Amino acid sequence: MLNETEIDPLAGCLRISKTAKTGPTIGGPAGPSCPGMRASLKLGAEGVCAFCYAASGKMSGKADKAGGLRSKPTRYRTPPVQAIRDYNMALVKAALAISERCCTDLYKRSLRQVRGDVFRLNDSGDLHSVVQVRALATAIRELRAEGWNVRVWVPTRTWTVDRFLAPLRDLATVEGVSVRPSALGFDQAPPVVAGLHAGTSAERVKGASGADAQCPVGGAVKSCAAAGCDQCWRPELTVAYHEH
Ligand code: SF4
Repeated sequence: MLNETEIDPLAGCLRISKTAKTGPTIGGPAGPSCPGMRASLKLGAEGVCAFCYAASGKMSGKADKAGGLRSKPTRYRTPPVQAIRDYNMALVKAALAISERCCTDLYKRSLRQVRGDVFRLNDSGDLHSVVQVRALATAIRELRAEGWNVRVWVPTRTWTVDRFLAPLRDLATVEGVSVRPSALGFDQAPPVVAGLHAGTSAERVKGASGADAQCPVGGAVKSCAAAGCDQCWRPELTVAYHEH
């Protein structure tokens, strides 16, 4: 485990991973550090966060033939992936402990390393502080001014926590950024949050959420690129994902 006191945020960069499905991402630890998790867990077995694919020790929501849940080891639980997530969280926290500007510069240095034209924040975990959201918005604005033109998708459940709403709305005004509120429970309609972009749903029953579009990944189609799909970077469409 990395010791955050040994990390110099002035020198470090967040680790960019490449997920098989959506491409480059900066992830963090999933679980109690996710501010929106509590609202989802209130829904019990209907809560998406109760079956978080990225939380260590959790189970897949898929039922076996007897109706019980079966565990599904994922790459998110491997020590190297967990170490990256913990490192990213520690580095953001260390930067925030110095200043909002330090966190902005950390994001700028890190996002400059993204290759390709799309980027997804948080394939695991979520935004965890209001200042972090502000720093991210400033970083992307400043990068845009330098000609950085990567489209950014920010899925989040922090919309359930009042103090996040103003900075999320500001982030949603940054060119090329889609801030998408994620549904709390399976098969729920995509959340509609004033000032944010179209929401997303997780479905156990295909079509149950009423979302505009379905994620086409599944079976032989393993990635957004293979599907030729960029719906999640298009802020106007609500999208449903089949349960992981
Ligand atoms: S809806 Fe499209 S862009 Fe979004 S995850 Fe699925 S394939 Fe990728």
